Amino acid sequence: MDKGPAVKGSVGRNKESMKLLKETFLGNSDVLAGFTNRHGGVSEAAFHSLNIALHVGDNPDDVEKNREILMDDLSLKHISWMEQVHSNNIKIVNNAGVVAKSDGIITNKIGLALLVMVADCIPMLFFDRVQKVVAVAHAGREGSFKNIAGKTAEEMQNAFQSKPEDMLVSFGPSIQGSCYKFDGKYLDLPQLNKEQLLNVGIKKENILASTVCTHCNKDYFSYSRNSKTGRFAGLIMLK
Ligand SMILES: [Zn+2]
Repeated sequence: MDKGPAVKGSVGRNKESMKLLKETFLGNSDVLAGFTNRHGGVSEAAFHSLNIALHVGDNPDDVEKNREILMDDLSLKHISWMEQVHSNNIKIVNNAGVVAKSDGIITNKIGLALLVMVADCIPMLFFDRVQKVVAVAHAGREGSFKNIAGKTAEEMQNAFQSKPEDMLVSFGPSIQGSCYKFDGKYLDLPQLNKEQLLNVGIKKENILASTVCTHCNKDYFSYSRNSKTGRFAGLIMLK
C-alpha cells in the first residue's frame, strides 16, 4: 500500500533521522529524498555547521568538506545543483553539475541527485511514482509569485508525460506564514504554493508541507533571522 508523502527526517550526522530519510520518504523505496539541517558539518560562526552553499561568504574549503560529508552520508555520487535566481526557469537535467540561472530542475535519471539550497524559502521535492521522474524547486517569495510550483509540475507533464494524480510533493522546513510579513501583511508561502499545486491537479493528500518554521527553529539556517547565514538542502534521487 502506498502510504502517501511522509518526510520525517533531516540529515546531518543524526543516525536516527538519517535512517528515516533513507527509508520513509513518500513511502516509496525507489526514491531517496529529504532535507538537511544545519548540524553535522565543519563550517564556523554564522555558517555553523553544515552549510552547503558556496555563494554566501563561507570558507570554500569548509563548504567543500560539508558537501563531501553530505555525499558520503547518503552515498550520493552525482548531484545537479542550481544557480538559483528567484526565477521560474525550469530545466531538464541529465548530468551532474551546476545548472545556470534556474529555480527548478527535473530528471528521470537514476542515481542523479537533484539539490535545492534554502534558508527560509521552501525547498520543494516532486516525485512522479508512475513515470519515475523527480524534480526540485526553490520557492521563495518571488518564485512563488511566479508560480514556480505549478510550473514545475507542468514541465514534468510536458517533458515526461507525468500525470498530476501520480505526483507526490513535499515541502521542507521554511519560514511559516505567522512569521513572514511582506508589504505589511502576513504572507503564507506554503499555503500559496499548495494552492498552485492544487490548481494544476495535484491531489491535496499528495502534498505534504513541513510545518517547521526556519525563522523559529534554530536547527535550520534562516536568512530572516540573520542575513549572514548558510544554506541547508532539499534533495531527491531516483534509486
Ligand atoms: Zn516562525
